[in-house]
Amino acid sequence: MGLVPTMGAIHQGHLSLVEASLKECDRTAVTIFVNPTQFAPGEDLDSYPQPLEEDLNQLRALGVNMVYSPFVREVYPDAYSTYITVEGLTTMLCGKSRPAHFRGVTTVVCKFFNTFRPDRAFFGLKDYQQTVVVRRMVRDLDMNIQIRCCPIVREPDGLAMSSRNRYLSPEERQQALALSESLRIAESMITPDTSPETIRDIIQNRISSKPLARIDYIEIRHPETLEPVTDFDEGAVIALAVIFGKTRLIDNCLIAPGSDPFLSKNFKPASSSHPESYDIEVDCMR
Ligand code: AMP
Repeated sequence: MGLVPTMGAIHQGHLSLVEASLKECDRTAVTIFVNPTQFAPGEDLDSYPQPLEEDLNQLRALGVNMVYSPFVREVYPDAYSTYITVEGLTTMLCGKSRPAHFRGVTTVVCKFFNTFRPDRAFFGLKDYQQTVVVRRMVRDLDMNIQIRCCPIVREPDGLAMSSRNRYLSPEERQQALALSESLRIAESMITPDTSPETIRDIIQNRISSKPLARIDYIEIRHPETLEPVTDFDEGAVIALAVIFGKTRLIDNCLIAPGSDPFLSKNFKPASSSHPESYDIEVDCMR
């Protein structure tokens, strides 16, 4: 059994996880649930797109075995009071500007794991920190589930696919290309002698040249501990979050140990053939 947790507004990024699960597992279940506990007051919970019929059609067409789209009261009944918190990893990067976010994610993911008892669960590297946090929860709580990570699916021009991209105005959409462009340039400039600060400056200069961009963070971190790194020897994740108007976009790029650019697959356009999933510990953590 493979499980693909989503918040719906299904796009090719989600479908790549579904395809990986269909390929690897006998049965595939998808959850569609806009999880209120991972949104802070003032975030886009109420406006989050929910085109359920379209989503179901896309999933049906791929041959998914089950879609679970519960009501909020089914997941969080009256007097709901139990939460899963992964400490440390969740207070940095996205957790800094969204302090309750990962608690909501791990709680709902844990509940869906209990509901479905999958053998494997599929997550996108687009939400890199989320993959690290979920893997830590699974390890710490002895959940017998393999976490599979799939490469970032991008629009043909490089923008990482996201249900939130539809909030962008045409100008914001154009300027948002600075995220993937700066990551691609940064990745190509890494040599054994390049410092993470230099790379960070290059990205920052490029993104801040876009008048509509407000940088939340640009960080170069260890791929597993998410702590700051002083070189690329053990590999790194270059992670960024940038706000355009009301829309907060994230993107990242993984650098393999030894400074070889990893996952050029990350920059494959959406039209590419099915990406495969990775057991990230095996494939890109050593
Ligand atoms: P969401 O519906 O945004 O919560 O995403 C559900 C799952 O799809 C998460 O594991 C995301 O990381 C993954 N995902 C979202 N966008 C992409 C993308 N562009 N490429 C790969 N995976 C993605």
